[in-house]
Parts: sequence; C-alpha cells; structure tokens
Amino acid sequence: MANIKKPGVDAVLVGFGWTGAIMGIELTAAGLKVLALERGENRDTQPDFAYPRITDELSYGIRGKLFQNLSRETVTIRHTPAEIAVPYRQLASFLPGDGVGGAGVHWNGHHWRALPSDLRIRSSYEERYGKKFIPEGMTIQDFGVSYEELEPHFDQFEKICGTSGKAGNIGGKIQPGGNPFEGARANEFPLPPLASVNSARLFEKAARDLGYHPFPQAAANASRAYTNPHGAQLGPCNFCGFCERYGCYMYSKASPQTTLLPVLMKRPNFELRTRSHVLRVNMSPDGKRATGVTYIDAQGNEVEQPADLVVLCAYQFHNVRLLLLSNIGKKYDPATGEGVVGRNYAYQLNGGASLFFDKDQPMNPFVARAPAAR
Ligand SMILES: Cc1cc2nc3c(=O)[nH]c(=O)nc-3n(C[C@H](O)[C@H](O)[C@H](O)COP(=O)(O)OP(=O)(O)OC[C@H]3O[C@@H](n4cnc5c(N)ncnc54)[C@H](O)[C@@H]3O)c2cc1C
Ligand code: SF4
Repeated sequence: MANIKKPGVDAVLVGFGWTGAIMGIELTAAGLKVLALERGENRDTQPDFAYPRITDELSYGIRGKLFQNLSRETVTIRHTPAEIAVPYRQLASFLPGDGVGGAGVHWNGHHWRALPSDLRIRSSYEERYGKKFIPEGMTIQDFGVSYEELEPHFDQFEKICGTSGKAGNIGGKIQPGGNPFEGARANEFPLPPLASVNSARLFEKAARDLGYHPFPQAAANASRAYTNPHGAQLGPCNFCGFCERYGCYMYSKASPQTTLLPVLMKRPNFELRTRSHVLRVNMSPDGKRATGVTYIDAQGNEVEQPADLVVLCAYQFHNVRLLLLSNIGKKYDPATGEGVVGRNYAYQLNGGASLFFDKDQPMNPFVARAPAAR
C-alpha cells in the first residue's frame, strides 16, 4: 500500500529519455497537465557534461557512469526457456540509460529512418522470395504503421535534432549524392552532411568504383550552428570522438537536453520528479483502465500518483516488465506463440570489417563523430 497519495494529473510519463521528452512536449502543447517520473538523477549539459570532466574515459567509457547501475537493478538472461535465468552483471554492447535524457544522452546520433520495406518486412520478403521463404514458427511480422504514415514524424524529428545529411529521394525524385534507395522524403535534411574524414573518403571511392551508391550517413550531430523549431540552439560538432558513452559538451549531439528540455522545463503545465522509481501501473477494479502509478520517491516513500493517462516511456523491456507487474495484456509464451507482451523484442545488429592501411594513409581515427569511442 502506498503511504502518500499525490493530487492527480492529466498524464504521467514513466521514464524521461527521448520518448518521455517527446511525449512531454506534445502533451503539454495539447494543454494537458503532465508529470514525468524518472528513476535516475537530473542532469544537463552544464555542469554534468562539461569539458574536460566528461571526457574522463575511465569514469564514462570504462566504468559507464551514465548507464543503469547493474549492482542496484539489472535484467535476467537465459538462452533457452529450460535454463534458470541469471542476473546480467556486466555491461557489454547493451548500455541502458538511467537519469534524465536516458540513453539519448550517451547515444551516437546515427539517424536512420526505417525503409518502407522494413515496416512491411514479412510482406516484402514474401513478395520477393515467395510464401515459403520465411520458416514456419518465425514470428517476423509487418508493423502496424506504414512508412507514408510515419514520414511527417521522421521529418519533424530530424528538424528537432538538426540532423545533418543528404536526401536521396524527395517526393519520389532521386537526388544526386543521397541514398537512392530510401523512402520518399517531404524535405531535404535541415543541415548539410558533416565533413568527411579520410577513412570515409576512401570507403566512398572504393564503393563507387565497385558500382555501389555511397552516401553520407544521416547524423543527429550538427554540422553547423542550428536553431530547431522549438527555439533550442545547437553548436557545430568539433569531431572530438566522444559521442557514444558520453554526453556532448559542445551542444552538438541531439539529446533531450539539447533539443527539447530547455522549452519543456519552462512550461507551467509540466513537472519533472527525479529519483522516482515506478513500481507498477494502478488499474481500475475491472482491470480495464489505468488510474495512475505507484512509485518509490527519493526518501523511500511509496507514493500513489493518480493520472488519467499513463504513458510508459521506460524503454522496451522496462515497459514490458511494468506491464507484466501490473497484469496488463497477455504475456508472450514462446512455447505456444500466444500473447503479445514481450513478443519480438530485438536489439540492434551491426556489421563491420577491419582493414589495414600502411603509413601512406593517415587515419587519425580519434578525429571523428559518433564512433564507438572508448
Ligand atoms: C550506447 C548506445 C548507443 C546508441 N546509439 C544510437 C544511434 O546512434 N542511433 C539510434 O537511432 N539509436 C541509438 N541508440 C538507441 C537509442 O539511444 C535508444 O533507442 C533511445 O534513446 C531510447 O529512448 P527511450 O526514451 O525509449 O528509452 P531510454 O533512453 O532508455 O529512457 C528510459 C528512461 O526511463 C527510466 N526508467 C526505467 N525504468 C523506470 C521506472 N520503473 N521508473 C521510472 N523511470 C524509469 C530510465 O532511467 C531512463 O532514463 C543507442 C543506444 C545506446 C545504449
Ligand atoms: S563528436 Fe561532435 S557530437 Fe560527438 S560528442 Fe564530440 S562534439 Fe559532440
């Protein structure tokens, strides 16, 4: 039982990374009274990501100061349903966020849009390779939204981030220098591509010589000074190489802090409570409607927060866990294939190759943006 009950709000956001910040901006603009509950600490470019402290590789790159502290809370892992799940104790490629801005602080800023075929992946594979191509039991499915429906939102988010890039397809017309295979865009990127480094120039030449279509990757790292539609200002990236695992001290990498929070925090119908760890979504007696959440506050009190709308923005598997703890939806059962809560979670996959260049090619790989700088 909660020992404190707070006055109700229109909407409560559980978690305050990119998703929480975007929902906060949109729902407050619609006139709702919005409360964000974030389990971690408050933090901002100044003073938390200030130079030179933020480039401390031991604290941030190795010890992971910005990530979820696994000694306090972790996830459990098993490789088959028959195994006993064990706690995940050492972070590897999976680096979940904790604190205001979530993983949007220490992400890279690679800013891909889904391809139209990605969003209808089962259909597009079946059309190309036949109905028998996808093995029986493989749960791959089309998304519930199309590229065309999402395009205005992709466009809006690129403008919020000040994304640097080169369009390859505007309104169905192929543009020289961009990705000719991308879905049609309404507009060019808000900023031109970032400058090329030597390794990118070599890659571009090799790819072009082989008949491919290299293009500058879209990056939410500003190539120029930029003011976004909300009035937030970004500065040009200096290629310091401290993107992944670090906050950006140059206000160049798009994050909730650099693009949305300066506006959102000033809105009178918005409130942020940090060190507020949500335990469950509270439901009406018939179990059909969310009535708010229960959380543990910074003093260890259990607090009931009523709300007309509960938005889970805690990242996929925290959202799934909260849904399961709150008895919402049907749990996915891999043995029967029934249930949707927890089904089809997928983490990112990357491909790569290592090449060796002799002394005649100065690479200086520390001069970069959005690499896996460690
Ligand atoms: C190292 C790294 C690099 C990445 N690079 C890229 C990239 O280049 N391009 C790209 O597109 N994507 C990238 N991503 C992925 C991208 O950053 C994330 O998908 C995105 O930031 C997730 O945003 P979110 O708001 O859904 O979740 P998060 O950013 O994880 O925010 C969730 C917030 O909820 C809080 N929370 C969790 N549980 C609770 C609870 N019970 N109560 C209260 N608060 C809670 C957490 O503390 C956190 O602050 C990267 C991710 C990582 C980790
Ligand atoms: S490389 Fe650019 S965007 Fe990344 S942290 Fe450095 S200045 Fe910021």
